[in-house]
Formats: sequence, structure tokens, C-alpha cells
Amino acid sequence: MSLDAVLARIDEALPQATDRLIDLLRIPSISTDPAFKADCDRAADWLVAELESLGFEASKRPTPGHPMVVAHAAGEGPHVLFYGHYDVQPVDPLNLWHRDPFDPAIEETAKGRVIRGRGASDDKGQLMTFIEACRAWKDVHGSLPGRITLFLEGEEESGSPSLVPFMKENAAELTADIALICDTGLFESKTPAIVTMLRGLMGEELTIRGADKDLHSGMYGGVAMNPIRVLARIIAGLHDDTGRITLPGFYDGVTELSDEIRAQWQNLAFDHARFLGDVGLSAPAGEQDRTPLEMIWSRPTCEVNGIWGGYTGDGFKTVLPSEAHAKISFRLVGQQDPNAIREAFRAYVEAQLPADCAVEFHGHGNSAAGQMQIDHPAFEQARQALSEEWGLAAAYVGCGGSIPIAGYFKTVLGMDAMLIGFGKDDDQIHSPNEKYDVESFHKGIRSWARVLEKVMG
Ligand SMILES: [Zn+2]
Repeated sequence: MSLDAVLARIDEALPQATDRLIDLLRIPSISTDPAFKADCDRAADWLVAELESLGFEASKRPTPGHPMVVAHAAGEGPHVLFYGHYDVQPVDPLNLWHRDPFDPAIEETAKGRVIRGRGASDDKGQLMTFIEACRAWKDVHGSLPGRITLFLEGEEESGSPSLVPFMKENAAELTADIALICDTGLFESKTPAIVTMLRGLMGEELTIRGADKDLHSGMYGGVAMNPIRVLARIIAGLHDDTGRITLPGFYDGVTELSDEIRAQWQNLAFDHARFLGDVGLSAPAGEQDRTPLEMIWSRPTCEVNGIWGGYTGDGFKTVLPSEAHAKISFRLVGQQDPNAIREAFRAYVEAQLPADCAVEFHGHGNSAAGQMQIDHPAFEQARQALSEEWGLAAAYVGCGGSIPIAGYFKTVLGMDAMLIGFGKDDDQIHSPNEKYDVESFHKGIRSWARVLEKVMG
């Protein structure tokens, strides 16, 4: 029954919790602009004071950039580390905001009450859901839920330059049994989700060269090899008619979904017609024996991001170009090895070069996919807790893009992370009029109370 008491406390103290969030939102902690350096510092101080008032041992820790906030609570049982970031994006164009981005307030909208202001959703509102859950717990029990470390960053919106060095220097202090990251959203704005799969990324830029100068197609056309023709054939051969990628060994390390995850994704009832319709498309273009969610979350890709060569200006020039270029990138999943794929790609290109053509490669990026070990009991406990709070079965989902922090927890500190967040698709993060639904904030706090109750046992 003590969980009920904590949830009741959260409900009754929501106005004060909202006031504290609004207080934090008033601090313009824009990390990318040096003019706001003192404000970033002030946001860190605010959080240290807040956490100390809850009984955490909290400190502001210097870095070459903006400070980190680290806080500890001792206790029995599993050690959890919570990550969020207190810095925010710049606010321009300011004229598109309908209120001062750093004079936040509750607004009534057609879709319900929202907290409007820069950082309301990304990420101050989200990180405060966890801190407020700790506060309600303390109010009811007189102590914090257990062994918790908070790790709050001030450079997430400006590329996290200090993050990995700080993690390495403080590895012993930051390594826990499991990490919790609150910087993501509900699936389609309603279903609670835990991100457990993040795609990696590897890119190659290539230049194919033929003749040593551009040629006249009247004089050389037909007798000289055209590098654009070579490049086009190479690119066309990267996919077969079913949408599969043809590079030898490309699917090594790609794991199949378990029946359970497949069922969870089925249950999400993803409306791919609407998803594609929103951008003027209708037909999923990936592997034809896969569902659209699999294509986005659990299957690797090969995409041509740019292709150029020859004459592309106004009018017409009958040139036979000496060079052709392309930028090609691969989203990776499971245990796919970026280096092995880079080698396979280069070998595939070189094997198709005709006489008199040469190729030059430039590699870009090299990050493997992130795949969480969901057999850690905290995953299933958190999934149950979220399902109970939201009244919808929570799912382990993928993320088509990359969330670097989750990868760093794994590669630098060796721990799995649960990415749980309550943002909605229309929160307008990074844009004018950012908001966080009061529902996201309220049920987010309640969600963490339930998660902590199950995970900390
Ligand atoms: Zn964020």
C-alpha cells in the first residue's frame, strides 16, 4: 500500500512540483552560446540545491565546458543511475514564439493543459519527473528509495564534448547496475515504451575517376568510359528486387526478433499508411518480407545520401565527365561490424571497376548499433510498471536514429540503459513554442515512482 501513498502524494503535490519545474525553466541554460555560460552554471547550482534538499549528496563538477551535476543516495539493493540534461536549445526565431521562452507558464490548449517554455520537454520537464518521484517517495517514507546516482549533463544540446572524458575519469563513481535515461517519448504520443535497440551508422564517400580531364561527348562519346555510368551501375546493384542489400556478409550479426518482441510490435498497431502519408508516400520500400516497424527499428539500411558529377548547371553541356561522386551511408543493427561492412563495400566497388577507372574512398562515422540486454530483471519490472500507470501494454521499441548517450553507457561503463520518456510527438522540441503536457509530467512522475518501487524492491 505504500506505493499508493506515494502516488497519492504525487497527485496532491502536483502544483508545487509544477512550480519547481517552472522555476528551473526560467533559467536560460543554452549550452551552445557562450553568452549563457553563467546561466548554465546557475541551472547546475539550482539542481544541486534541489537534490541536496532531498537528502542526496550532490555536487557541481567542473569540465572544460559546462558542469556536470552528480548526486548520490546510499542504500541497499540494486544501484541505478539516472541521466538527464539541464541544457536547452537556442530559442530563435524568437518572433515565432507566442510567449517569452524563458517566462514559462501553464497554458490551456484544445488538447489539454501544457507547460510552455524552452526546455519544458527537452529535457528539464523529463528530468524533473524523476526528481519529483524521489521527492514524493521521501515525503511518504522519510527516505529515498535506495541506491541512486543522478548524472545530469549541461552539454547535450551542443555535442556533449566533455561527456566521454568525464565518464572515463569517474567510471567507478558512475557505474551502476542499470542506467535510466529520460529523454525520449511515448510511442505515437500514447503508448509507454522502453527503447532497447538503437541503430548504428557508417558512411562512405566515393569518387570514381576515368579520363584525366572532362571530354567532349561528340569526340569521345562511345569510346571513353563514363564514370557516372560506372557509379550508377554500382549503386543500382546495392539492393536486389526484394529490397535486400547485396554486399557479401552484410547481414552477418543481424539478429532476428524474438516472438515476444514481434508480438509487442504487432500490438502497437503502427499506422504506417499515415506515417508514410504524412510525407507524401504510400508504399514501404524496404525488404518486402518485413513490417514497416522492423524496417525502421531492427533492419539495416544502405542509403545514397548524395550523388553528383558532370554538368548540372542551367542549359546543357555535352560533357563526358572525368569524375563521379556519391555519399552512401549504412544504418546498422544487432552485432553488425562497421569495419567489416566498410571493407565489404570497398571490395564490392573495386571489383566492378572497368579498365581505366579508379576509385577513392573517404570513410565517415563508425558506430555500431546499441542492443540492450533485456534479460536484466529491471527491464521487465519497468515494463510492467509503465503498463500499470498508462493502462496500455508498454513495449520494448527500437530507435531508427542514434542516441549517443545510451551507447556510451554501454561502451564506456559497460552497463545497459533503459530509455524511458514521456514526450509527445507535438512537443516541438528544438522549435518555437516547445511544451510538455501536464499529463506527461504528472504521469511521468507517477511512472518513475512505480518503476523505482519494482526495481529497487
Ligand atoms: Zn534532449
